[in-house]
Amino acid sequence: MLNNIFGPVLSSRLGSSLGVDLLGGNICSFDCLYCESGKTQIKTIHRSAYVSGEKIVEELREWFGRSTQKPDHITLGGPGEPCLNSQLGEIISSIKRSWPDIPLAVLTNSSLLSNSQVCKELGNADVVLPSLDSMVEEEFQRINRPHPQIRLHEIVQGLLNFKNGFAGKIFLEVLLLPGINDSDKNFELLKEFQEQLRPDRVDITMMSRPGAYMEMSAVAGPGLEKWRREFKTTAFKRTRPEHSSQIQETRLREKIGASIKRRPQTPEQLASALGANLKAILFMLRQMEQTGEVELASGKENRQKFYIKRG
Ligand code: SF4
Repeated sequence: MLNNIFGPVLSSRLGSSLGVDLLGGNICSFDCLYCESGKTQIKTIHRSAYVSGEKIVEELREWFGRSTQKPDHITLGGPGEPCLNSQLGEIISSIKRSWPDIPLAVLTNSSLLSNSQVCKELGNADVVLPSLDSMVEEEFQRINRPHPQIRLHEIVQGLLNFKNGFAGKIFLEVLLLPGINDSDKNFELLKEFQEQLRPDRVDITMMSRPGAYMEMSAVAGPGLEKWRREFKTTAFKRTRPEHSSQIQETRLREKIGASIKRRPQTPEQLASALGANLKAILFMLRQMEQTGEVELASGKENRQKFYIKRG
């Protein structure tokens, strides 16, 4: 069983994304209201080899050894802040050496970019996806609930310094929560910052699954549209072939279990992420529900049905 590799999941920002968890648990410098991985268990800024680079590469070799799929990206992320792993640099270099034709992406909450060593280690990545939800201090504290030693102005400066020395692509993410960080003040500050940073893309996103401290929320249509229009947000476009018939029942069960262990998903999302037939997914989910392996959690706003792992 692979403990640190999940997916590939279909990501609107990266296409099919093979996730790599560098933490092995909810270890993060933030404890965001909307975190789809649940509440942060260890809030820290201390870097450590939470999962060894050796183990990560070993699991990736195993995954590629038995998979016929080639993901669009290998993505370092997981239920926490990947830059907290002190072997980040070695892990990135090893992955790039072993799978040079697959772009490597790193998701980060940006909090460690004020550390020049972290910036150096990220240097070999192809894409870095930093997030910055608010440049208004009260909003930042409310939405991201950072470790007490983290300073917003250092994150902002860290992002600018990182961009200056980075040859890859930067996709900045801003997740909007209505009434919390969709203020005009934040909009103006982020627009100015966009001019300074000049990222390759800005992705304005919103919750699509239940979060650690809240049900799903939605930014009213025109509000969200204004942000997306002004920041010129574009979605990743790619069509994927279906190869459900190749997936045996036992593997499908295992894949579903591993995928929703990381984050709740609808049957449709699972079908896309695993390249499987929706009917096969629904059939398997019903079986797994009966055996108590999964359960349903409904999103409040759009009534979508998410499956979560039990136990
Ligand atoms: S959303 Fe990301 S940054 Fe926020 S608590 Fe979860 S893992 Fe950490």
